[in-house]
Amino acid sequence: MSLLTVYTPSKRQDFWSKWWSLKAPQRLKMLLWLVMQDVVLTNTVRVKRGFASDASCPICQVEIEDIDHVLRGCLIASDVWNHYHQNTQGIQGLELDIKTWITRNLDHTNPDPSWPTKFTTIVWWLWRWRNMGCFSTSADIPSDKIHFLHRVYKESIKVLNTDASRLNRINTRPTEVWVGWDPPPMDWVALKTDGASRHNPGNAGCGGFAEKLGVCSLFNAELRAIFRGLTLAKGWGIKHLVLNVDSRVIVNSLHGKHGCPARFFGITQKCKALIVDSGWEVQVTHCYREANKVADTLANVGVTLNCNFIVYTHPPRELDSLLYADKIGTKFPRMIASQ
Ligand SMILES: [Zn+2]
Repeated sequence: MSLLTVYTPSKRQDFWSKWWSLKAPQRLKMLLWLVMQDVVLTNTVRVKRGFASDASCPICQVEIEDIDHVLRGCLIASDVWNHYHQNTQGIQGLELDIKTWITRNLDHTNPDPSWPTKFTTIVWWLWRWRNMGCFSTSADIPSDKIHFLHRVYKESIKVLNTDASRLNRINTRPTEVWVGWDPPPMDWVALKTDGASRHNPGNAGCGGFAEKLGVCSLFNAELRAIFRGLTLAKGWGIKHLVLNVDSRVIVNSLHGKHGCPARFFGITQKCKALIVDSGWEVQVTHCYREANKVADTLANVGVTLNCNFIVYTHPPRELDSLLYADKIGTKFPRMIASQ
């Protein structure tokens, strides 16, 4: 019976669930992600994309270099895995196809619970050593690779466990949510504002209307957009207003949960004074960028505006598709830390 297992779409989900919960530095996790997408720039991929004409391995110069060869078949890799196969319980075999092999080795039920972190570290260094060998820095490849790997992942695990205990306190895990524009409650008006700055600080504008602000920082542009929007809404006699802002820092500043940088104290206070002004009710809420695309576009219009300020009686044409997307309730995926 062959032990070869073919990686199938149903197993892809298995990989992603393990990948999300994998405790490893982000750049290491990213390499696994690239491997699973078949986009690591080995010589095979480079030839396919027309970047190179020779797909052979630059290290052993015997075999074709694909990701399987780099991570498992080439000289360094096979030496390293030989060691781990003799000394590690629960390590998944090289007879598996590479994607199944990766997925299985990320399993937390492994006899050594830190094996997924160690495995990811080894994979990352095998790719790094391959690049060092290719780009003439082979002298930097450690002679005792096992000792080196042991030191590196020991350090990683220590740091990650410290981070994990901190994360556990605030109970954050990434979760995918769908975000889009939601209409305000009946009898309420929504004000969405945004600031844009080309470079930071740089030429800036703000949206919900469009205003050219000259040279200022993004934070300042956002606050000035809010102040301008609140002033307009108040002037138009609106009684119930939901102010949506895509900067959590600014929302917290307006709620008084934390201070703002000293140089923005004045404009922040002016916004807060308008929010609590008599004659209307204002609720300040945070929204994600995906729900604020219209204001974001107008803010960018403001950066290049020919005049200083414009209130649109009809939306400019560049908003047509965005307004339509809002109208039909288009949602966008976003990863957030669940609370
Ligand atoms: Zn090779």
